[in-house]
Amino acid sequence: MPWIAEDKCTGCGICIEKCPVYAISMEDEKAKINMAECIRCGVCHDVCNQQAVRHDGEKVPEIIEDNIEMTKRFMEECEKHLGNANERRKCLERMIKYFNKEKLIAEKTLEGLERLKQAV
Ligand code: SF4
Ligand code: SF4
Repeated sequence: MPWIAEDKCTGCGICIEKCPVYAISMEDEKAKINMAECIRCGVCHDVCNQQAVRHDGEKVPEIIEDNIEMTKRFMEECEKHLGNANERRKCLERMIKYFNKEKLIAEKTLEGLERLKQAV
């Protein structure tokens, strides 16, 4: 999924003009993608000569770090609100279950997409 690196965007508007579904707007002279409208066609990435439209893969380390920080925060909050140090560990176990479920969804989705690829 594309995202805009604001430090690189010059606000030229080319991506807005070329997006086939009008999913990009200008805010404070920076392009902004409405992900609910975006159809992942990649056109904005191809037309931006500032390399301001970036790929999701670049955010993977950041997302992992955010997930770990979020888990630590939930653990703290569980202990604080439930008043028992044991709740930290139970919260951690719930988060591990949650991310295992996300992994399973991703794996099964990929299997489905591979089947789709055979049929296209
Ligand atoms: S084409 Fe690139 S530099 Fe121009 S507005 Fe879009 S993202 Fe910004
Ligand atoms: S990927 Fe395609 S639909 Fe999405 S914002 Fe870029 S040009 Fe628009």
